[in-house]
Amino acid sequence: MMSDRARRKLLVANWKMHFVRAQALEYLRVFTERVRGVQKTEIVLAPPFTLLETVGRALHGTGIKLAAQDLFYEREGAFTGEISAIMLKDLGCAYVIVGHSERRRLLGETDEIINKKLRAALDAQIAAILCVGETLEERRAGRTHAVLETQMRGALAGLRLPSPSEGRGDGGEGECLVISYEPVWAIGTGVNAAPEEAEASALFIRELVAQLFNTEIAQRIRILYGGSVKPENFGGFVQQPNIDGALVGGASLDPEAFAQMAKIAERL
Ligand code: PEP
Repeated sequence: MMSDRARRKLLVANWKMHFVRAQALEYLRVFTERVRGVQKTEIVLAPPFTLLETVGRALHGTGIKLAAQDLFYEREGAFTGEISAIMLKDLGCAYVIVGHSERRRLLGETDEIINKKLRAALDAQIAAILCVGETLEERRAGRTHAVLETQMRGALAGLRLPSPSEGRGDGGEGECLVISYEPVWAIGTGVNAAPEEAEASALFIRELVAQLFNTEIAQRIRILYGGSVKPENFGGFVQQPNIDGALVGGASLDPEAFAQMAKIAERL
């Protein structure tokens, strides 16, 4: 079903735990220059919390959007070290990454926690980029789709997504949810999934969204691929009918490489 190329391409840089202010500003000096003229493709940068304000200010007027890499699900209170959706909204974040596999693995994030975080993001009208993906072991056991289904059902349980035509979310297309298919074995390893394999998972995710919500949302929702994406392989992913862009970690730390991907997306 459902190949709708009307969906705007989306490219997200996940800087993870990299850069201090001077490095971020130098990056932006190069990057904003290189992507001048990129208009059809939506570009989002997700710096660490400490850089959100600096990067947000520097992006003002560029059309490039700001994302956080995580949030906490409570609104405010005695939660030492945590950051709420309202705080992110205050800094101008349009997006927040939720459920990244590094957080699931290193910090014990469960589907239940992820569900609460999604709810908090939706309440604050910040578009969530939900990450799902299987480990190598799960893939070898032929469980990829079963794992995706468990993660999706758990993360999205009980959530009401406004239909895209309501335009309530703060994402570029007025949406409030983006899903990134990120096979864990491909993240930061240099081994990417084959584009056809990523497409099969993206299609599976889209069909599941139709079941969990409705076909309008499924047709409009943007699904990204993440896992060792770089300029040399990016085109192969974004040309797949159900893949609308990429979440890029390592290669997004190089402003030239990330800008190159934005230009490739723009041409396709
Ligand atoms: C990620 O952080 O989501 C990611 C896909 O990382 P990398 O591009 O480095 O594999």
